[in-house]
Amino acid sequence: MLLSIRATFVLGFSAGLLLLSGCEQQKPAATTPAAPAAPAAQVRYECPMGCAGSQSSKPGKCPVCEMELVKKS
Ligand SMILES: [Zn+2]
Repeated sequence: MLLSIRATFVLGFSAGLLLLSGCEQQKPAATTPAAPAAPAAQVRYECPMGCAGSQSSKPGKCPVCEMELVKKS
């Protein structure tokens, strides 16, 4: 008699824990805002000689004439 009461209590307690943990897993996904993308996408670099295919999204050297790429707005 006592054992069965304890068993049902433990079962109910663990079921409650499962429900609680299930709720906690759903909260962060719902409240996390989408992170804004890095603003680096607007800056473009291009060869000062205007070589074809020299445009890049990050500083470097022109693959055609190997001059330093300049920032374009
Ligand atoms: Zn070039």
